[in-house]
Amino acid sequence: MKKKLFILGPCSLESFEQISRVANILRKHDVTYMRTQVYKPRTKPDSFQGLGAADGIPVLNKLRETYSIDQLKFVAEVCSEEQLAAIADHVQVIQIGARNMQNFELLKVVGKYIKDHDFVLLKRGFANTLEEWLSAAEYLAYFGVPKNKIVLCERGSRSLTSPTGVHLDLIAAMMGQKAGYKVVIDPSHGSKQREFVIPLAKAALAMDFDGVMIECHPEPAKSVSDAAQAISLEDAEEFLLAAHTSY
Ligand code: PEP
Ligand code: MN
Repeated sequence: MKKKLFILGPCSLESFEQISRVANILRKHDVTYMRTQVYKPRTKPDSFQGLGAADGIPVLNKLRETYSIDQLKFVAEVCSEEQLAAIADHVQVIQIGARNMQNFELLKVVGKYIKDHDFVLLKRGFANTLEEWLSAAEYLAYFGVPKNKIVLCERGSRSLTSPTGVHLDLIAAMMGQKAGYKVVIDPSHGSKQREFVIPLAKAALAMDFDGVMIECHPEPAKSVSDAAQAISLEDAEEFLLAAHTSY
């Protein structure tokens, strides 16, 4: 069976205390990729915008005192070249979020910053077609990101019929794989409610997808962003124990 990619962690990096509790659980279950979102693109301007580089990078550096790059890899989203320049050397995976999937000026510069990074995670915009998604991936490749370092992420599209307002488009995700990319499924943004996250993650693993990205938090209800979809660390552990024995 091929090894699946597991990326877990909080919606936003909030504090060393928060992220180190997550890191300890991930390492206990042999997960290497952790969400460490220093920047957060938010719908409302007065919502928490992320710790930013000045406060966030010291937290990442402090984690490095405990966990080497071989043990724990940091995944972080960037929304601009300025953010890319600030964070690229501190993380192993660069994430382009749904809202920036067609930020072509950003897509054009990512390649300049890719050195020994593991991959670039390109999330699908929540109202974008398959062709637009694959074209965004082509932008990354055309401007210098090696194709084998581009991983796609299906994170759900707006839905007129789903009670949560969003549904995972697994057909588009399968077609992304057919186009030659690894595809990770994000059941957290793809459902918006914690009760659906683990069942959908299991479904994604049972299908032939390459991995899952899941939001978890030591105190889910207190998460500063996306609290309704955050699963607890206990639930994350239970999921990982079951997933590791099957995949
Ligand atoms: C995220 O994964 O942190 C995120 C903001 O998701 P999306 O871009 O899919 O909304
Ligand atoms: Mn989130």
